[in-house]
Amino acid sequence: MIDSKNFIETIIDQDLSSGFERSNLRFRFPPEPNGFLHIGHVKAIVLNFELAKKYNAKINLRFDDTNPENEDQSYIDSIKEDISWLGYKWDKECYASDYFETLYGWAVELIKKDKAYIDSQTSSEIAAQKGTPTKAGTESPYRNRPTEESLEIFSMMKKGNFKQGKHVLRAKISMSSSNMLMRDPVIYRAIDSHHPRTKDRWKIYPMYDWTHGESDYIEQVSHSLCTLEFKPHRDLYDWFLDFVVDPKKIRPKQREFARLNLSHTITSKRKLFSLVENNFVSGWDDPRMPTISGLRRRGYTPDALKKFVATAGVAKRENIIEMSLLEFCIREDLNKKCNRLMVVQDPLKITISNYPEQVEKLSLINNPENIDSGSRNVVFSKEIFIEQSDFLEDPPKKYFRLSPGNEVRLKGAYIIKAEEIIKDPSGSIKEVICSYDPKSKSGSGTPESQRKVKGTLHWVSCNSNTPVVIREYDRLFEHPSPGEFSKENLVQAINKESINIFNGYGEKELSKASVSESFQFQRKGYYVKDADSNKEKHVFNKTVSLRDNWKKNQTL
Ligand code: ATP
Ligand code: MG
Repeated sequence: MIDSKNFIETIIDQDLSSGFERSNLRFRFPPEPNGFLHIGHVKAIVLNFELAKKYNAKINLRFDDTNPENEDQSYIDSIKEDISWLGYKWDKECYASDYFETLYGWAVELIKKDKAYIDSQTSSEIAAQKGTPTKAGTESPYRNRPTEESLEIFSMMKKGNFKQGKHVLRAKISMSSSNMLMRDPVIYRAIDSHHPRTKDRWKIYPMYDWTHGESDYIEQVSHSLCTLEFKPHRDLYDWFLDFVVDPKKIRPKQREFARLNLSHTITSKRKLFSLVENNFVSGWDDPRMPTISGLRRRGYTPDALKKFVATAGVAKRENIIEMSLLEFCIREDLNKKCNRLMVVQDPLKITISNYPEQVEKLSLINNPENIDSGSRNVVFSKEIFIEQSDFLEDPPKKYFRLSPGNEVRLKGAYIIKAEEIIKDPSGSIKEVICSYDPKSKSGSGTPESQRKVKGTLHWVSCNSNTPVVIREYDRLFEHPSPGEFSKENLVQAINKESINIFNGYGEKELSKASVSESFQFQRKGYYVKDADSNKEKHVFNKTVSLRDNWKKNQTL
């Protein structure tokens, strides 16, 4: 997938050439089950899983489940579903919570070796002693508390004898380290909350930094890849490992790559959660969401998402990728794969006065990009629908669609000419009466069928069609960098009109479509059938337009 060598592969190759056993390579993807995966995660998934493929190495899916307050089994399930949907298989499904007992044992060892202590200050007292990057912190008055006392309190914390926040376990590193994260970080805190896996067994939970490196070590992960914001955590990662590593075993190595940032969207589970919670969207899988499940429902394919992250590349420095690249990737993919169909979204009735009462079946090619896709029958009749926007009573110059006295070709059918407009009492156009040229049928070989007219319109027969509900989406955020807004102010960045619903008509063929099947609706874009459909109601989500309208629409 990623064809040229990225800098992570260079690191691995160097390790291999300096004697690291290839068979000891092991990777992991470590999501916290506190929300649904998003487009940013796709980058980390593709990176890790493609590395495993390339080096024929094992890869674990590890749930970093150390914050029971925010985690849920439904998130675990969705994460597994999304990775599988992308086409990847993990070797082992692991949970940091499976290591809670081991981690607890190691923490006790830390205390015994005078490398950790129980601090009984409040969190704000501890924070006030942190210092600044240029000013050393202040040592806690509990820093030199007797080992026995720390051990006893820690054991009581484990039993749930204290309220949250009463005591914490801190590593005893240095309050004057230039790396603020090394200033006696908290490694355990009491939490009285139900955990999706360990249920109510634990009353204390290990912090991320303590858990992550040690879990990598337990699983014998060789290269632990994370995003750049963890770079300052690397010292801590190594400090913790120094304490447990057996020199005969693999010592995991943390390396960092740049996050994927996408314009006009957010990639933070916490903020995405607030969109769901405040009902700005219908759920985590709302087709406007940048979650994998939202993108899937929007009609994105695994191939397009993989192509997108491969094109964005694996870098050491942060940058922002334009949304139009993501759209380009799905458009390219669907163009090759999708059959074409005609759908009128906003119908205007046309009656062809000189066309007989009978109907006729026309044969149309399904996908000119794919000769194996075959053709289908489409019914043509005296009464048809075209788009409202394809007719103008008073057209400007260079309007090549239908207007009084002007000819257009109906896609795969005949040339028609607008003769008469019928209006309702309010003056709006109800119907247009046209005439047609009976010899102009597409593909009939007559000289008239070759006749060039400037406009070609899509259409649907009034006699034979499938009523459809079309959901057209605009970007969810008006602002190009909604990530800059706090969770509370996110509403200000939101586009209030990001969904438009139309009741239109599609070709009869469309009633056979299955949920998740994608089509090109001619002249309009790519659409996917949504799970909200039923026998009577065929709902389609617009994935992307045929051309890039992005720049044109940009207002900021
Ligand atoms: P969030 O803020 O969305 O919760 P996170 O980093 O806390 O993001 P995790 O579930 O802990 O989410 O992340 C799992 C893995 O995915 C980590 O290795 C993380 O570095 C990586 N990851 C998360 N977001 C991105 C992103 N935008 N680009 C690339 N990798 C990412
Ligand atoms: Mg995280």
